[in-house]
Amino acid sequence: MEIRFIGASKNVTGSCYLLKIANKNILIDYGMFQEINYMDHNYKKLPIDTNDIDIVILTHAHLDHCGLLPKLSQDNYKGQILCSPATSSLCAEILTDSAKIQENNLYFKNIQPLYNTKDAIKTISLLTPIAVNKPYKISNEVTLKLIPASHILGATSVYIQDHSESIIFSGDLGRVTPNIIKGFDKQISEEKPNVIVMESLYGNTIHESYESASKKLLNSIVQTMSRGGNVMIPVFSIQRHQEILHLLTNALKSGNLKKNVQIFSDSPLGYKIMRIYESHTDEMNYEFKKIHNPYGTNVQNMHFVHSNNKSMGLYKKSNAVIIAGSGMLNGGRILNHLRKLAGDKNSSLIIVGFQAEGTLGYEILKHPKTIKINSESIPLKLNIEEIYGFSAHADKNDLLWWLEKYSSENLKRIFLVHSEVDVANSFKEILVDKFGNNIKISIPDIGEQHSF
Ligand SMILES: [Zn+2]
Repeated sequence: MEIRFIGASKNVTGSCYLLKIANKNILIDYGMFQEINYMDHNYKKLPIDTNDIDIVILTHAHLDHCGLLPKLSQDNYKGQILCSPATSSLCAEILTDSAKIQENNLYFKNIQPLYNTKDAIKTISLLTPIAVNKPYKISNEVTLKLIPASHILGATSVYIQDHSESIIFSGDLGRVTPNIIKGFDKQISEEKPNVIVMESLYGNTIHESYESASKKLLNSIVQTMSRGGNVMIPVFSIQRHQEILHLLTNALKSGNLKKNVQIFSDSPLGYKIMRIYESHTDEMNYEFKKIHNPYGTNVQNMHFVHSNNKSMGLYKKSNAVIIAGSGMLNGGRILNHLRKLAGDKNSSLIIVGFQAEGTLGYEILKHPKTIKINSESIPLKLNIEEIYGFSAHADKNDLLWWLEKYSSENLKRIFLVHSEVDVANSFKEILVDKFGNNIKISIPDIGEQHSF
């Protein structure tokens, strides 16, 4: 078995790993780099000819895991891209949207596009949904199993084995008790991998609870409204958007938000994703399944904005909560709202998700006096709040819980990926204490290759 680390190695985004097992070349994820210092990696070629890739496996539909897949079609890859059924539906929307952004970047900013809509359509036709939790034969020697990862709808870990060796790629892991979707299978795993490649994004953090985060969010909205300001919540279109809609729907129904508060879901992509969430009730947790109309599509104060024209005027409304993408403020409709409201000290920007280094969201959290949006300098006077209890990622305890599930006498190597180096180092220290010298733990660099 041979593994090569292509992305999300000593950095967070650009997940991509090449595995050679029983003479099969398997690509796991092909995600977009989103940190500003890594953008040039998006233009690099894979270290393998696409004709030599036997199969691609996708863990989930976040852009930093699937965003470069259309480059495979550009290079004539015609094989399958295996993933869970929900990931297939979500990925089709994400890649269509991403291709449009690439084309707009060329048209408006003269940025060289990574691919176009044609490439994305070809890639979408290669997405091959397979059942989760069932062994799937890639060849006579190699078997694959997708195992739910509790992160977002459809997200899975990837377990691969041949007659003598086995490896699990965690993909992005969620919390032991997630909010909307079903959690992990709580049993000790039947799979006992020799090698684990695991994410460690929050390897040094304990998240606050969802309940505490919800209270903070509602409190901040109430405070902002009492000052006469508006609220902006930048969200990722997958899951965070639906979670916030659900939370605010509940608050409107229960009277925790006053009747004059108007909620604007200003994301056509978020709306399409919400429809996909609605069609996968079997993957929601037991309590959530019982809720009728969880995202508030029939609630009077809930508005789903589709047209650009309507979106442009939202900042003029009063008592408005605007939920829009992108989640890290590096594009999308949220920028227009921020441009209009940044100077209003009565309004609020509430950050509810991870902000990668180099994004506008990351800069804003340093509370600068001015920000730049499309090279225009804008004074930043509004109230800025960060709430991290909504994270769809495992925290330190969740990661240790997951690792325990796959630890056995078979385990020989652990690779920590998908985190900033200092975080990976502090998580590694915990693991060294736990396992001693029995298991080799590494934090690989991009380009590093290991044979077993
Ligand atoms: Zn993810």
